[in-house]
Amino acid sequence: MKITAIETLVCHARMRNWIFVKVLTDQPGLWGWGEATLEWHTKGVVGAIQDLSQLLIGEDPRRIEYLWQMMYRQHFWHGNGAVRGTAISGIDIALWDIAGKILGVPCHRLWGGRVRDYIRLYCHLGGGRMEDFYDTKPADADRFAELAQQAVEEGFTAFKSMAVPETLPLEGLRPVKYAEACVSAMRDAVGDHIDIMVDCHARPSPRMGLLFAKALEPFGLYFFEEPCWPEVLDDMALIQQSVKTPIASGERLIGLHAFRDMLDKRAVSVIQPDITHCGGLSEARKISSLAEAYRVSMAPHNPQGPVSTAASIEFGFATPSYIICESVHKDVEWRQDVVSEGFEVQKEGRIVLPNNKPGLGIEINEAEVKKHPFQQEIVQRTFYQDGSVGDW
Ligand SMILES: [Mg+2]
Repeated sequence: MKITAIETLVCHARMRNWIFVKVLTDQPGLWGWGEATLEWHTKGVVGAIQDLSQLLIGEDPRRIEYLWQMMYRQHFWHGNGAVRGTAISGIDIALWDIAGKILGVPCHRLWGGRVRDYIRLYCHLGGGRMEDFYDTKPADADRFAELAQQAVEEGFTAFKSMAVPETLPLEGLRPVKYAEACVSAMRDAVGDHIDIMVDCHARPSPRMGLLFAKALEPFGLYFFEEPCWPEVLDDMALIQQSVKTPIASGERLIGLHAFRDMLDKRAVSVIQPDITHCGGLSEARKISSLAEAYRVSMAPHNPQGPVSTAASIEFGFATPSYIICESVHKDVEWRQDVVSEGFEVQKEGRIVLPNNKPGLGIEINEAEVKKHPFQQEIVQRTFYQDGSVGDW
């Protein structure tokens, strides 16, 4: 059995271009689907997949680890950057889809079988650019409360929000009070039985991250995400040691070694590998084994397209430390038109029941994808109040 071609299908989905990866084989009707979506780097990833194809065409798709090693180690440069890491991930996911299809079993059966009956989903309330409504604190708090109630009405028992505003490396009490007001409003709106998460998008400086973490500690967050850059792991560890709130991070990390460093520092209670960036399902399985050794939870980052979601779900059914999966259900109205999924989502409680179809259990409707061709993402620039460059 041989790989004959690796195709990329780009599908513009409002906020991002989904990059679907199709690995074709010499067996009629046998191909695998992966996803390698990387916002603002679509052309780079498509090019990286073309580069990697040179290594893979003619190889046996069943030798997944062997091919992963080639993709990561050959051609001198290791694959631990975002563009190549994402390209490797997309191909690796497709290879696992092929493996499941060859054996006629869902991917989770390949990894030791089901360890749970269902997977819990959470949604993202958004919040977007905080400075747009930075000075209207009461209205923002009310808006967050409204969105929180809406998520619960839609069946979610957990949701995430960006209730921490963008700040200069050091600011006074105002942004901290703003975040407190927004989280307090959400907690009042949904009560104690719903889990609330707050994502800082790694925007705060380590000291601002600590101030926010301390201020929000009384609200019993399920986790507090990326309170500072992942480049400063000692500071993240200090934040984690300073509050009882579980700290979560990892969506920007590529490869097992990066997660080893994060875990070794005791910087987080929850790791958030993105299966479409971290090195695919092969690397995510190694990362999860490492997390088991540290007894740290796993909640994958998953805001992209439907193949990413299918991979994250399959992975969750075979991963003991997995606690919850990010889900997107309102990004584009036609999301369900481009894919048929093997798993079932129960609206009540927003839980996913297992996929029983082979591989990832999905099929992409290529005609639908073609209706949404590549469009350049809107250029995003962010600046602090004084004109200096901030983090998007
Ligand atoms: Mg995040």
